[in-house]
Amino acid sequence: AYPHLLEPLNLGFTTLRNRVLMGSMHVGLEEAKDGFERMAAFYAERARGGVGLMVTGGIAPNDDGRPYPGGARLATEEEAAKHRIVTDAVHAAGGKIAMQILHFGRYAYHPGLVAPSPVKAPISPATPRELSTAEVWQTVEDYAHCAAMAQKAGYDGVEVMGSEGYLINEFTASRTNHRTDEWGGSYENRMRFPVEIVKRVRERVGTDFIIIYRLSMLDLVDGGSSFDEVVQLAQAIEAAGATIINTGIGWHEARIPTIATSVPRGAYTWVTRKMKGKVGIPLITTNRINTPEVAEQVLAQGDADMVSMARPFLADPDFVNKAAAGQADAINTCIGCNQACLDHTFSGKITSCLVNPRACHETILKIEPTTAKKRVAVVGAGPAGLAASTTAARRGHDVTLFEADADVGGQFNIAKQIPGKEEFYETLRYFRNEIKASGVQARFNTRVTADALIQEGFDEVILATGVAPRTPAIDGIDHPKVLSYLDVLRDKKPVGKTVAVIGAGGIGFDVAEYLTHEGESPSLDLAKFNEEWGIDPTYADRGGIKQPRVPHARRREPLARPGQVQ
Ligand code: SF4
Repeated sequence: AYPHLLEPLNLGFTTLRNRVLMGSMHVGLEEAKDGFERMAAFYAERARGGVGLMVTGGIAPNDDGRPYPGGARLATEEEAAKHRIVTDAVHAAGGKIAMQILHFGRYAYHPGLVAPSPVKAPISPATPRELSTAEVWQTVEDYAHCAAMAQKAGYDGVEVMGSEGYLINEFTASRTNHRTDEWGGSYENRMRFPVEIVKRVRERVGTDFIIIYRLSMLDLVDGGSSFDEVVQLAQAIEAAGATIINTGIGWHEARIPTIATSVPRGAYTWVTRKMKGKVGIPLITTNRINTPEVAEQVLAQGDADMVSMARPFLADPDFVNKAAAGQADAINTCIGCNQACLDHTFSGKITSCLVNPRACHETILKIEPTTAKKRVAVVGAGPAGLAASTTAARRGHDVTLFEADADVGGQFNIAKQIPGKEEFYETLRYFRNEIKASGVQARFNTRVTADALIQEGFDEVILATGVAPRTPAIDGIDHPKVLSYLDVLRDKKPVGKTVAVIGAGGIGFDVAEYLTHEGESPSLDLAKFNEEWGIDPTYADRGGIKQPRVPHARRREPLARPGQVQ
């Protein structure tokens, strides 16, 4: 199974056991109390799970580059020593790990933010201070020193983060670099910053150390790089001493979704494919690759030499081992919801995962065999009931799951019909598999009563019967034209041509998406997705963008104007 994905990658001085990179994610443990112990457990579990090479969350090379005051930095031997527990744990588990060096530039949330030019980011509250010529040279030196400290800490390599609109990207794009010294103006000058960084890092770490350069191959913003410039930079980065080039897609301020669940699987691997043959070092592709089938296909069709997946390893640390064992059905798939990973990060919480709450909580949430086996009834086979029943069964309890419907899923069965939420099918597939594998006895089409539960003599009963929608007290709510979301999504009641959706929360948006999309969901049709969002695979203009063309929803036909012939 998956011959391309599981093939080792020989880098000359070292060999990766397969083509799987666990991409960088800032998980919040970098700054947490006991964070290094927790990161050691987090990364070691993924190393045991078979990942070829992991990249840590971004670590700043100096104070200016921190995401916020107190954000993770590596600039001293004392700081390096703290990482040792992480690298030792990963190596003991048979893995390899690189540390990402990330300077936040004008995306930083602290008063001392810096950038090539004082141009405020549309997603940031503050205008950055322009770095002086000497400060830019010092920043290059800080990157090199940071890499040397990472090597001292036992990492197998570093990833220089040059994409997503952070400092390095701010230097390479004319939209953010208005300098007139040797770091600005011509493209040669604008790309000097990343090239000098990679050159200095290589000088400092020697030959036998992995340097991944995360190259912004598709900026997705006005004033971004042209493809010729991207190629020119890739070749210069190779010449400067990088081992591997990873793909970066879209600045954070881009209007185009790049990792949301509505993005088709593998939607951006064509970008890496365009780079193939332009450099001699391996290329990694990325974004919305979440199953071994997609990863294998991407490699088999020659889009890249290696595949980066990040969130899929929050959802399931054993992804690679399960794939290698021919058990892809047992993989808990990342559904791209971002609810417990990115949303947590942006609200200052430690990352977790909607489908795997143990992610980043490995030392706290330990699921161990029970010493007192019980008979447990779980009522309701929605996501909560499924998680509770299968976890209890895995711990050794005797579990019966009652469900009034004929199948698992509960509210997920309603959500999965929304265009852009097709990934929900994967969670249901995972749990169907998990019910069998864990030994849960499922009784479908069974609306169980309290008396029946008492009669059967269960030791514990877990209620997971879900929610009933609230009917707001709005005048006219009883009018025959008024439907609830369940009437529309579950019961398929007829809906007219013009529709007012009341309530702009998640369900309101979902209903609107459901009613306005016709035919194949853009999430399953890459050409449609690219048209709708204005992504140009021919890369005719800078940034790879073009005018978006949102298809006209035929639910509401254009109203005839007075005098218009119909
Ligand atoms: Fe994936 Fe959602 Fe888990 Fe994030 S929270 S890793 S997007 S399933």
